Amino acid sequence: MDFSGKAVVVTGGGRGIGRALALAFARCGADVAVAVSRDLAAAEAVAEEIAKQGRRSLARRADVSQWQAAHQLIEEATAAFGKIDVLVNNAGTNRDSLLLRMNEEDWDAVLDVNLKGTFHCTQAALRGMVRQRSGRIINITSILGLTGNPGQANYCASKAGIIGFTRAVAREVGSRGITVNAVAPGYIHTHMTAGLSEAQVAEILRRIPLGRLGESEDVCGAVLFLASDAAAYITGQVLIVDGGMTA
Ligand code: NAD
Repeated sequence: MDFSGKAVVVTGGGRGIGRALALAFARCGADVAVAVSRDLAAAEAVAEEIAKQGRRSLARRADVSQWQAAHQLIEEATAAFGKIDVLVNNAGTNRDSLLLRMNEEDWDAVLDVNLKGTFHCTQAALRGMVRQRSGRIINITSILGLTGNPGQANYCASKAGIIGFTRAVAREVGSRGITVNAVAPGYIHTHMTAGLSEAQVAEILRRIPLGRLGESEDVCGAVLFLASDAAAYITGQVLIVDGGMTA
């Protein structure tokens, strides 16, 4: 896929799936801005790799749960690249516990990053996209937003919320030449799944027809496809990348 001349923003791009996405877009010719919540050095390392490929890059610390930080991130990326063609709302977090033990802080923290952060960045990026009458927004949800999972009510609610948000905004901005889609990964080897016990991994593997957890790179094809010209007539959809787990 060719993204030459395209400008992409990936939130949470310092590690895991976001890092793989940022590098994949750059390999396909895009200029890429990478935002992280805390670890600016990680974002800078990704930006450096992108620059080595001859692309423009930007590394920023931006807590997407904060309206001001999210809007500033989009402003700075727009100033650096002159526009934003693709926004990938990938930043995400989890604070797992059974519902009866879940405190309000854990609920708010997850909803604020995953769902409100997606709202903040989308709203900020849409202004320019509406003006240029083109744009692609890809929201990283999860199969757990479709199936639910015990001990993750906050995370599942945030990811289900992203799906509703995706469909609503797709309907709002379709007439402006902007598509809004979601990608729902299954279990992917990243920091987020590093805490799973051997027994949990064995049980998960039993339910995956392709017989392995995904790698971050496994998610890239779906996201790049939805950002590409090949997906021009696809909007408001959820593309599942889970090795067949929900089949
Ligand atoms: P990860 O923990 O390695 O990466 C999460 C990224 O989000 C980090 O770069 C972190 O800095 C960033 N982030 C967290 N809070 C932020 C904030 N407030 N502002 C800006 N950035 C913030 O995990 P990952 O697995 O790479 O997760 C990426 C996305 O994929 C998340 O939305 C996650 O929910 C989703 N996802 C992951 C899996 C999986 O199995 N790993 C499955 C389905 C969906």
